[in-house]
Amino acid sequence: MSELRQDPITHDWVIINPERARRPHDGDGGECPFCPGNESQMPEETDRIDDAQGRWIVRAAPNRYPTLDVERRAAVRYSEVPEGWRRLPAYGQHEVIVESPLHDATLASLPVERLRDVLEIYVRRFRVLAALTGVARHVVLFKNQGRRAGTSLSHPHAQIVATPVVSPEVRVRTQEEVAIFDSTGHCGMCHVAGRELGGGERVVHRSAHFATLAPYASRVPWQIQIVPLRHAPSFGEVKSVELDDLAPHLHAVLGALHAVLEDPHYNLVVMTPPLDQVHRLANHWFIDVQPRITLRAGFELGSRIVVNVQTPEAAAQALRARLPQA
Ligand SMILES: [Zn+2]
Ligand SMILES: [Zn+2]
Repeated sequence: MSELRQDPITHDWVIINPERARRPHDGDGGECPFCPGNESQMPEETDRIDDAQGRWIVRAAPNRYPTLDVERRAAVRYSEVPEGWRRLPAYGQHEVIVESPLHDATLASLPVERLRDVLEIYVRRFRVLAALTGVARHVVLFKNQGRRAGTSLSHPHAQIVATPVVSPEVRVRTQEEVAIFDSTGHCGMCHVAGRELGGGERVVHRSAHFATLAPYASRVPWQIQIVPLRHAPSFGEVKSVELDDLAPHLHAVLGALHAVLEDPHYNLVVMTPPLDQVHRLANHWFIDVQPRITLRAGFELGSRIVVNVQTPEAAAQALRARLPQA
């Protein structure tokens, strides 16, 4: 049994998926399914980049224990769902991107050229999943680094999921961006990035095409956002020349994060609007990195107001000090 259920009051979507509890974890005694030689433990590969000897250095394949599964796709129409208890089969596409053949590597430890290959596969898979008409309404690309960030296997990997539904919180963000555009005539993120670059105290790093900022209202200690300086609504529109710049940029800022936190556990998410709601002038994709240091407590669950024990200005200053050119 695996299905999407919608909360009848908040309209939040929840994936009820007991099968996910059976997925392998580090220390189970089995071999790592992402290591070279164990490729057969994963479903058939969907994409790869090889080195000069023809060995893979980045590869993508469907998740063996998918959160959402394309096989469960059924001709369910929303209007056919009985009133009150709305549910859908948990259909969608869920892939794993193995970021390196090296079991003990991290995204931060990869050489810049390898990181560029990882970004190439990120964009290629994003574009393929976004084109799954009838399946994808939102494509979420993310990475869980470390146990506290929710990873079950330490071998460096990212995941990409095409979902058939969009949660109200995601909608609110994109709608707020549209509201800002309607009232001011500019993209909110372009405006914020411009102001932050002018002020400087929350700027962690800047390169030709990207700025890394500690957000003004950071939700957790050491939160950073990597923002493209060219306005583009969706991650799928990123240009090759921008990825050439993003690879060394990401290498530098993740390196700084690893330097200040030693073994950071973090979630990295590519924030991009739902496919059916893109407002070309108002939405602006970016990468959000949130280290997992503190746990959410009752006040935060009740009020939806988080308590951050670190100022973003202090985070930016400490991260800047760890960057190579500092
Ligand atoms: Zn491995
Ligand atoms: Zn913009």
